[in-house]
Amino acid sequence: MDVATGEMPIIRKTPRPGLPAPNLADYAEACAGFTWQAARAVLDGLPGGGLNIAHEAVSRHATGRRGDHPALHWIGKDGTRRDYSYRDLEAASNRFANVLGTLGVGAGDVVFLLLGRVPELYIAMLGALKARAVVCPLFSAFGPEPIATRIGIGKGRVLVTTGALYRRKVAPIRAGLPSLHHVLVLDEAAPDTWSFPALMSGASDRFTIPPTDAQDPALLHFTSGTTGRPKGAIHVHEAVVTHHATGFYALDLHPDDRFWCTADPGWVTGTSYGVIAPLTHGVTNIVVEAEFDAPTWYGILEAERVSVWYTAPTAIRMMMKLGAEVARARDLSALRFMASVGEPLNPEAVLWGVAAFGQPFHDNWWQTETGGIMIANYAALDVKPGSMGRPLPGIEAAIVERRGDGEVVPVTAPMQGGELALKAGWPSMMRDYLGEEARYRKCFAGEWYLTGDLAMRDADGYYWFVGRADDVIKSSGHLIGPFEVESALLEHPAVAEAAVIGKPDPMAGEIVKAFVALKPGYEAGEPLRRELLGHARKRLGAAVAPKEIDFRANLPKTRSGKIMRRLLKAREMGLPEGDISTLESDER
Ligand code: AMP
Repeated sequence: MDVATGEMPIIRKTPRPGLPAPNLADYAEACAGFTWQAARAVLDGLPGGGLNIAHEAVSRHATGRRGDHPALHWIGKDGTRRDYSYRDLEAASNRFANVLGTLGVGAGDVVFLLLGRVPELYIAMLGALKARAVVCPLFSAFGPEPIATRIGIGKGRVLVTTGALYRRKVAPIRAGLPSLHHVLVLDEAAPDTWSFPALMSGASDRFTIPPTDAQDPALLHFTSGTTGRPKGAIHVHEAVVTHHATGFYALDLHPDDRFWCTADPGWVTGTSYGVIAPLTHGVTNIVVEAEFDAPTWYGILEAERVSVWYTAPTAIRMMMKLGAEVARARDLSALRFMASVGEPLNPEAVLWGVAAFGQPFHDNWWQTETGGIMIANYAALDVKPGSMGRPLPGIEAAIVERRGDGEVVPVTAPMQGGELALKAGWPSMMRDYLGEEARYRKCFAGEWYLTGDLAMRDADGYYWFVGRADDVIKSSGHLIGPFEVESALLEHPAVAEAAVIGKPDPMAGEIVKAFVALKPGYEAGEPLRRELLGHARKRLGAAVAPKEIDFRANLPKTRSGKIMRRLLKAREMGLPEGDISTLESDER
């Protein structure tokens, strides 16, 4: 079905009685009157000038009228609930900023957080930002290898984690991480570590944020390319201007909202919108420690009276499996706005939202490098199911074609595919790939930032996702670089070559599939397959490890020695093999 040509019904928006007016009601007017300077002026700024994310997220509310308003409403795996008002969050994050001070950690030092979604993750992140350290949250499901790579690239000085994670994943790699001076452990004593609770209880809950320049680095988020190491995108304190403005326009946050972003802070969504944007708006941010489980999620939406829900296509597809009646049986009358990000949201899922919740899911688009939402189906926009929506005020997007001479030329005709580009200069634009300036510079052509995604724009200015220009894998919302998975497989003594592709999967979007060629003397078969799957899981963690492994005598390669993942994928899917002129050796 070609949704872009209008076979899909457009979901028209009409005012919904009893609900607050959408923040972005008149698109043309909002775009025309928008400047980033004005967007920044809505925020406080530090008393002596400058801009610090944690001040905007916590301090200004804590010391103002919203001091007692619930900031974090945490729901633990066992159902325990813990509430933090803005004042509580201010005091706790002040303590952590002081802890860093006593450890001699400050401006520019990188603090890694390897934690599940526990309150200490949020406290440590905000405290580190106050201390002007750079924060890098990692997925707690990562195995030792990805952790070592990232702490190595980021030259992490501090790590906050749990005893169990430390023992299993960090202790074995610590000797190879000379930059890592301090490990703070939440819950148990471990050799060569500090006790987080002991340090916190000895620290003052008063802290004055030192002068912070809006251009000081604040956040580090890793993202994967098809080749090479993971890229560490650096964002600065000024990013908070985008977080706040997009929380207003794209997520339609209102002061009394109870907001739930289901993403983990290990992914940029879980930081920009799971921590910063809701707090800058002074709303109640609901944090759920448990992983996805449809009945639990429905229970949370209902019992917590969630009003704005930001989630991802994989979860939506899993909920769809249970049918719309399951949603309709719940009292979800508080739910005003639902948004989705991370991978293409099928038109069916958008429409299922209407059947199940009485409103569509609002797809929006952005990536680690953009730091915040760029293109969105905002609350007042008529939804064309399958479209990512329109560029937000302050964002100039285009479809461009790269020319051989490095120039890019905008494609103006509607529904012509090309690369999605954004006019550089919005506040949350990444400022660097850590230690990889050449790779960073390659993302820009003149005034355009090139996203690496292929898209189209229709005559009404709606954008439609086509695919990624490279072959990075997107599994359950996680961006996975084949290189990292292949490297882990190659560490196994039996493996001679490995290539990894994303295999389309109705639930996860894609699953990681590996093709492996063995060294002589090893026998392909079920026992070895199981051994390799276990090895990869141990090294990489369940979220990144392959789900399937096939054995091949050889892997197809180009003349320059690059494995042709594209070809493996085409064969896996029974698609035409495309241009194979550079193919040198083949598997067959
Ligand atoms: P990440 O940096 O991990 O957030 O991944 C960013 C990439 O995810 C984008 O470059 C897109 O390829 C994909 N993506 C994010 N949002 C969407 C969306 N709404 N529709 C399609 N693809 C998306």
